Amino acid sequence: MESTTSQPLLQAVETGSAWLLEHYEHLHRHPELSMEEHDTAEYIEDVLQGLGLETQRIGETGVVAIIENGDGRVVLGRADMDALPVTEDTALEYASETPGVMHACGHDTHMAGLLGAVRTLTEHRSAWQGTYIALFQPSEEDASGARAMIADGLADRIPRPDACFACHAMVGPAGQVSVRPGPTLSSADSVRITVFGRGAHGSMPHLSVDPVVLASSIVLRLQTIVARETEPGTFAVVTVGALHAGSSSNIIADRAELQLNVRTYDENVRERVLAAIERIVRAECEAAGSPREPEFTYDDHYPVTDNDADLHDLVRASFDAAFGDDSQTATPATASEDFCAIPEAFGTPYACWFVGSTDRERYSDAEARGAVSTEIPGNHSPAFAPVAEPTVVRIAQSHVAAAMAVFGSAE
Ligand SMILES: [Zn+2]
Ligand SMILES: [Zn+2]
Repeated sequence: MESTTSQPLLQAVETGSAWLLEHYEHLHRHPELSMEEHDTAEYIEDVLQGLGLETQRIGETGVVAIIENGDGRVVLGRADMDALPVTEDTALEYASETPGVMHACGHDTHMAGLLGAVRTLTEHRSAWQGTYIALFQPSEEDASGARAMIADGLADRIPRPDACFACHAMVGPAGQVSVRPGPTLSSADSVRITVFGRGAHGSMPHLSVDPVVLASSIVLRLQTIVARETEPGTFAVVTVGALHAGSSSNIIADRAELQLNVRTYDENVRERVLAAIERIVRAECEAAGSPREPEFTYDDHYPVTDNDADLHDLVRASFDAAFGDDSQTATPATASEDFCAIPEAFGTPYACWFVGSTDRERYSDAEARGAVSTEIPGNHSPAFAPVAEPTVVRIAQSHVAAAMAVFGSAE
């Protein structure tokens, strides 16, 4: 049923692809870091206003437009807006013009895609009934943007959605759409740990408590959390991404700082892993004779993205009808998102899906040689370069198809 109603709209997205790609290239050229998306927000506002919509700013650089189109379900589509402190190395004609900043996570494809969905729904009001909320969210990369919008009164300033949707461009055959019920993206936590030693001259180690040795044994011992404490088959990642101590070869420093990243699909596993980290760090400090308790700072917490099963079934049927073989079952990704904070603020079901963004020939060639992970630059790489067509068009179409499935389920 959805296919018959959404097909003309999907065709309209395709027909308007030049418009979409123009916006995509502009956004790619002008990336902005988290919570600094000022020009991006103005650009999005201009485009939305050009479609005859009113916009509101929520969370400083967040932008929301609401398309009211009679009685029916309320659907929210979300795109994130921020870029990364990465120097672009893609040789794209529309590469970043801002030194050291790049849309290396594909959030520009999400924004352009959502604009395409908004334009199509605005121009084809007779094909659907209900309310569509387009939400452009800042600052996904540091997990603060969704929370900033919620803190700025999001839940009181827009109608309560019946369903919320987001997607992410990923390595995969360009235009392939994949979704799954349940855990789809992992939880993530960043933990900063400072451990203390006793500083001394490099020639007098007996007078010191050496934080370099202490931190080194902590790094090694942390490896046992996943290898020895987590049930085989249960997903968990503990990465020490940064380790800093000392400044010179002949000085023993008085402290070391470690920065850890933790990923899980399950809240219980997450709590066990975080507890194990604290236990190991405290015990190693004790073993080293550290003069002070270690300090722990927890930031950048991302919850698990856990797709609602019923909403998934509705959306998947719509994707199958719309995209045929290009509609696939997603494999859970170890990346993380703050999107689900938005539906959770309303107590609303949600679904997040992936859209492949790699040139198909290149992908199948690399896949045949088992070389996808080594040869195809992924998100956050300076060489991450989604093929604009069909990726952006398909993102727009997938938002339309998902929304139409919910509008069509109103009776
Ligand atoms: Zn990212
Ligand atoms: Zn991202």
